[in-house]
Amino acid sequence: WLECELDFASRLGRAILDVVVHRSREMARLNQDLSRSNRELEEFVYTASHDLKSPLRGIATYAQMVLRSSGDNLAAKDRERVQSIVQLAHRMDAVIEGLLRYSELGHALIRREDVDLNEVCGQIIELLRVDIENAQAEIRIPHPLPTLPCDSRWVNQIFLNLIVNGIKYNDKEKRVVEVGYQVPPTSAATGRTGPGILYVKDNGIGIAAEDRDAVLRLFHRLNADQKFGAGTGLGLSIVARSVERHNGRLWIESTMGEGSTFFFTLNE
Ligand code: ADP
Repeated sequence: WLECELDFASRLGRAILDVVVHRSREMARLNQDLSRSNRELEEFVYTASHDLKSPLRGIATYAQMVLRSSGDNLAAKDRERVQSIVQLAHRMDAVIEGLLRYSELGHALIRREDVDLNEVCGQIIELLRVDIENAQAEIRIPHPLPTLPCDSRWVNQIFLNLIVNGIKYNDKEKRVVEVGYQVPPTSAATGRTGPGILYVKDNGIGIAAEDRDAVLRLFHRLNADQKFGAGTGLGLSIVARSVERHNGRLWIESTMGEGSTFFFTLNE
């Protein structure tokens, strides 16, 4: 190699290094900006939702007071209108509650303690007792569920939303929702055990293959025609985020008209 060739190669090397360093600094700065604006957005959603709740409660309370004190004197049309105000305020309250929960999940600390999932599901069934009876639904847990290290508050949200949906998006005469656990397989090669798979299975209307990713997105609803009751489009987003915050995976298997199974893992 000639002296000038070595000199050129070394200068070229330095120039490439400069570009790489410059680019990686730029990337780090962009990442920082992105995290900051994400954090600000989360904080904005949280504060806005929080501050909207109290005037909304006021609107519902005053409308209910009007119905109680002068409902009989109102013309039927006006009574319906005031009743609509109450219903719409409750619906908006449900959206705000969902948004608060979703944004809280973005920054909440996930506490991992041993949680008996039989207890979690037992409490949910108790909470939903009236809805389960009204829908003539049956919640089955064929085998005892495991005790896993997870945050009980957010795992409760996973099972609650999936069980409620399994009952709601269901047109069968006998609605059945099954909650179960598939024991993890042990690898023959390494002797190590994989993560167990939890599932919530229903015999409802099913979800088409092309909609299975979309239903996990914020505000995405497939049945906006109210046939299956009013929803917020937030339940499955909360489920997906809870699973993600537990370093788990979530996927859906479904046959239209026969039902859907939501599988998920925790702590992979
Ligand atoms: P919401 O139920 O409040 O509309 P979700 O985020 O829980 O919001 O669900 C999003 C949409 O996914 C629902 O509107 C419904 O169309 C569909 N979906 C959810 N769960 C099921 C299910 N178990 N079977 C069929 N469709 C479902």
